[in-house]
Amino acid sequence: MFYPEPLAKLIDSFSRLPGVGPKTAGRLAFHVLRMKEDDVIDFAKALVNVKRNLHYCSVCCNITDTDPCRICQDKSRDASTICVVQEPKDLVAMERTKEYNGYYHVLHGAISPMEGIGPDEIRIADLLKRLSDERVQELILATNPNIEGEATAMYLSRLVRSFGLKVTRIAHGLPVGGDLEYADEVTLTKALEGRRELL
Ligand SMILES: [Zn+2]
Repeated sequence: MFYPEPLAKLIDSFSRLPGVGPKTAGRLAFHVLRMKEDDVIDFAKALVNVKRNLHYCSVCCNITDTDPCRICQDKSRDASTICVVQEPKDLVAMERTKEYNGYYHVLHGAISPMEGIGPDEIRIADLLKRLSDERVQELILATNPNIEGEATAMYLSRLVRSFGLKVTRIAHGLPVGGDLEYADEVTLTKALEGRRELL
């Protein structure tokens, strides 16, 4: 079936999104066709703005529209702990628990030899720079409890050994193979409380 060029292009764009197959892409494109023009313009603007107006925080690498981000600017937080997470959405999950009051570091991925992602492909160098700040005493490794997350935690714990920090790993209660972002607040709070020290 041949669609007019603009529609075919929109279907193609939707089908490039994760989890969207050709059928869904078609349905979404036809939905856009039926939307009010103002709503379509708002939608298009939101897409462009997320790219143009968001960048990485120069301190923690979280996505932000201010630099440093609002969390790094917050002086009331506990500067002795840095919680390392894989993705910005994991930071949001940790914040939702309201149990953690330190700072964060967002890696933007995890080490995965299978996918060819090594330590240099994620924000590890930025993390090391922060550890020379003598206020930092504990590094909480809150990467996902799956193979990549565990590999990253092990790698980091060895890498930072020379800094003489307490290095802990959240574990208890989190389903193995699961994603941090899908854990409920209670589970995540328990995981944080039950963190164990990595040798
Ligand atoms: Zn930040």
